[in-house]
Amino acid sequence: MLLCRSLALLALILPGLLTACLTGPPRELGQFRAPDLVEIIKLDPTIRLDIRYATADNFTGRPLYPQPRAFLQRPAAEALVRAHRKLKAEGFGILVYDAYRPWSVTKALWDSASEDEQRNGFVADPEIGSKHNRGCAVDVGLYDLKSGREADMPSDYDEFSARAYPDYAGGTPEARRSRDILRRAMTAVGFEISENEWWHFNFKDWPFYRLLDVPFAEIAP
Ligand SMILES: [Zn+2]
Repeated sequence: MLLCRSLALLALILPGLLTACLTGPPRELGQFRAPDLVEIIKLDPTIRLDIRYATADNFTGRPLYPQPRAFLQRPAAEALVRAHRKLKAEGFGILVYDAYRPWSVTKALWDSASEDEQRNGFVADPEIGSKHNRGCAVDVGLYDLKSGREADMPSDYDEFSARAYPDYAGGTPEARRSRDILRRAMTAVGFEISENEWWHFNFKDWPFYRLLDVPFAEIAP
């Protein structure tokens, strides 16, 4: 009886302990494409960057990337460039907040999040990994081509609230319009929107790429 209770307790505690002890991405079986991470601005320098995890302006309050850079697997990067160029007709350009994210940074984000944030799916469980770790997810907003200003959206980037949901019906009509223009442009080129975040898009080819933990400086100097 006592043994059963101890085992049940262990099963409850163990997943947390395992996550805390992980030192690298979980092993994945199967066939994957060779990684081909490309720096987005090398394909189109008019795509703008605001890499929040390279600054203290993120929910952890400290920089997690040593460099403000954005990489994606080549087909995803090329699709993003297509979306960016199509948006020109609507008076907008793409603003990238985050793209490929080394697995160890996903682990650091998970460890910084509250239990509620972990439960609500705003941060990826490192035991599963994030599509950002595969170089196939990108967090984006829009900037206005005329003013250069970031377009207003119904919530801030990385705001953990209902306002971040892509179907949130509140906020100003202008903000909802910008959010919906972004969504249409991205889904037209092969990205799918996250259920929780208007800014997060997964590229359709993500199952073909492994979880990676390669630092930016090792991808390209
Ligand atoms: Zn994201």
